[in-house]
Amino acid sequence: MRYCSSTPSTAESPVSLRRAVADGLAPGRSLYIPFDIPRIPTALFNNIAGFTLQEIAYMVADTFFGNELAGGDVKRIVDETLSFDIPLRRVRPDLYALELFHGPTMAFKDVGARFLAALTPRLLRSRDTIKVLVATAGDTGGAIANAFYRHPGVEVYIVYPMHKMSRVQTAQFTSLGGNIHPLALTGTFDDCQSLVKGVIEDRDFTERYSVVSGNSINVARLLPQTFYYFHGYARLVEQGLQPGTPIVVSVPSGNLGNLTAGVIASKMGLPVKRFVAVNNSNDVTARYLATGQFEPRPAVKTLASSMDVGSPGNMQRLQALYGHSYSAMAAEIVGAGYTDDEIADTMRQALAESDYLLDPHSATAYRALCDTLAPGETGMFLATASPAKFHQRVEQVTGRKVELPPALTAALSHRPLTQRIERSPEVLKSLLSHD
Ligand SMILES: *Cc1c(COP(=O)(O)O)cnc(C)c1O
Repeated sequence: MRYCSSTPSTAESPVSLRRAVADGLAPGRSLYIPFDIPRIPTALFNNIAGFTLQEIAYMVADTFFGNELAGGDVKRIVDETLSFDIPLRRVRPDLYALELFHGPTMAFKDVGARFLAALTPRLLRSRDTIKVLVATAGDTGGAIANAFYRHPGVEVYIVYPMHKMSRVQTAQFTSLGGNIHPLALTGTFDDCQSLVKGVIEDRDFTERYSVVSGNSINVARLLPQTFYYFHGYARLVEQGLQPGTPIVVSVPSGNLGNLTAGVIASKMGLPVKRFVAVNNSNDVTARYLATGQFEPRPAVKTLASSMDVGSPGNMQRLQALYGHSYSAMAAEIVGAGYTDDEIADTMRQALAESDYLLDPHSATAYRALCDTLAPGETGMFLATASPAKFHQRVEQVTGRKVELPPALTAALSHRPLTQRIERSPEVLKSLLSHD
């Protein structure tokens, strides 16, 4: 598969996976998208329930990456990535949770991060140290740190907004040391993202120092997120859905990487009736879908803090995937946004009615299905984080005691190692080039 820029004006020819991963950003701060999205044969959907997560992921990964990786590598990368299960749970008769949080850092970011960590060394075959640079609003930092921890020849730099994330989230990457370098910025996630893009867009620099992006701007982090949409569908069929029936998919959204992967899956043939893009109070995407006006604004802090994004980076990819037509996008994606009070009510309600414990992020997507699913429709929402990861908030809201897994308790007991960073690409570059 080849990749092109999400802004159509550029007269550049499509690039290889290797180029897209090494560059991170396409020219002019735009993002790479698949140039030619492959279709999955319809016949496959009739038999899809017979395949495991790993088999489905391998089939999808091979159609994306098969021609650029050595034989056997796609399989090895998929197996290294998906060393955990992604169960589908029935919460109500018509409504299912796809639990993406059973990986090592308990949020869906593990899928993209682990794929990137397995792919990058095999793809780049660099003799120099590879430097992974990433901005995080919460869960990306932990996932990338865990995926690359102690990988020989890789140094990881994580830029995060100070005092904006949960203790567990921060501890997951500030407790490790070694090749993991946390960098704390005074500001919001959007400031972190902008700082990191300021470095990634300097191709001479990233080439010279082998810097790659660990964010979903990197196609190698974005595309593996398509796997579990197919897997979720397979598990629905296994539980009785008629093969081919279009479903409603609800996605807790911030930077829109997860939703973008879902839209790519639907363009590959996955039967989706509509997507619901669900925001917290940072409802820039929901407003755009309702009005056609895209108006980024500073993010505010919410209960679902990993979705506290005021300027969703993958919007330009979504627009490109819909041919830059608002009406085409609005025909397939509806928006929703929930306040902290609504999120908290939803968490209490799901526990009381269905005995299902939600974390605040997943709660937004569950709520959107409860509010919009029509009779006869089947809804699947992405449960993006484990309640244990946000145990304090979950306990406060629901009164239910949540056990902290041993790995998280251990992370919390370490003294955090971190360094402050200024909001200047030049300062960050000098740090990357001297280490
Ligand atoms: C990152 C994250 C989101 C938002 O995903 P995007 O791909 O940025 O839209 C939602 N929930 C959790 C738990 C996350 O970590």
